Amino acid sequence: MLTLRQLFLANNAQTTDFPLLLEFERAEGVYLYDSEGKAYIDLISGIGVSNLGHSNPKVIEAIKQQVDKYMHLMVYGEYVQTPQVRFAEKLVSVLPQNLQSVYFVNSGAEAVEGALKLAKRFTGRQQIIACKNSYHGSSHGALSVMGNEDFKQAYRPLLPGVSFIRFNNPADLELISTQTACVIIETIQGEAGIRVPDITYMQALRKRCDETGTLLILDEIQAALGRTGKLFAFEHFGIVPDILLLAKALGGGMPIGAFISSNNIMGALKENPILGHITTFGGHPVCCAAGLAALEVLLDENLVATVAEKEALMRKLLVHPAIKEVRGKGLMLAIELKDFDTNKKIIDRCIANGIITDWFLHCDNAMRIAPPLIITADEIEKACGVILEAISYYC
Ligand code: PLP
Repeated sequence: MLTLRQLFLANNAQTTDFPLLLEFERAEGVYLYDSEGKAYIDLISGIGVSNLGHSNPKVIEAIKQQVDKYMHLMVYGEYVQTPQVRFAEKLVSVLPQNLQSVYFVNSGAEAVEGALKLAKRFTGRQQIIACKNSYHGSSHGALSVMGNEDFKQAYRPLLPGVSFIRFNNPADLELISTQTACVIIETIQGEAGIRVPDITYMQALRKRCDETGTLLILDEIQAALGRTGKLFAFEHFGIVPDILLLAKALGGGMPIGAFISSNNIMGALKENPILGHITTFGGHPVCCAAGLAALEVLLDENLVATVAEKEALMRKLLVHPAIKEVRGKGLMLAIELKDFDTNKKIIDRCIANGIITDWFLHCDNAMRIAPPLIITADEIEKACGVILEAISYYC
């Protein structure tokens, strides 16, 4: 009989020849448990998803209650479904006034697709500007605005009219013109290896978009919902986007994404043609119920306010001559090391010693540190101890 691992390799589509091949039986809080009961501290939160930790009881309860009422009833936007309405209401209540219209989809990439379409439709323009080293997802539209040629070239032709500016480079903002439908940018770049832009840059970007009638799309799929120490990362920069993208942590572990804009902009999807964006499962009632519960826990437990202190502790502990830089904001951090080989060996040793971490898609010499926001000081000390031991072992 084949083992689970053999079946996984045989029947589950593989996209690399070197999957991690870890097998977990259950997850709770910041811990993942394998079949032998060995506990691992999750320092990556399933890539920015498990902000509340795994198996939050309030999220689980909300899911169970909704499952007992109804699951899928109808394609998005026709029936008045309580979980969708209540979740949108709650999101809007914590967002700036111009972000009051929430379109729920199933994933980050779908939020990107919806936002790009909306920007083209609303402005009547065709040109899109994105950033070098960006990551916005893996569907055709999202791939078109990805700032890394290696991942794109095999899938051309992609969307026409996309050009790229350097992230955090004020000079390039001149390329935004009255022909530009939108600029899509991660408020803090994730897969580039966690790059925090300057406040002055973000404010100049906002200004240039205003001057040219260009919509500013902020992709906070990885950075929002407390990850950086603010509920939304744009709060660090004193700007507000025209379209905000959320996913990952939005569903409290369930799959859901959203693009959020003003009623005025979103209204463009209603005419010429009607049904400007369609999804069957977007805003699935169970995912919305989970997302609402997750947002309530995040706010009620004031988790966001604990993040800066945890970042400070991480930064205090993560000191070693082989660490070139610890960069990022809040619990969205990167430890930069010499090169990929060193990084990979250190990551493998961390995993063997019960700490889950990885590297970034566009930055393979840095290690990802993005634990659930509920991580305690003791757990941070333990995790940093394992990381430093691994660094000392190889460097
Ligand atoms: N945008 C950013 C900044 C991301 O980090 C990701 C995923 O890693 C996406 C978009 C795509 O999200 P999804 O994988 O849900 O399609």
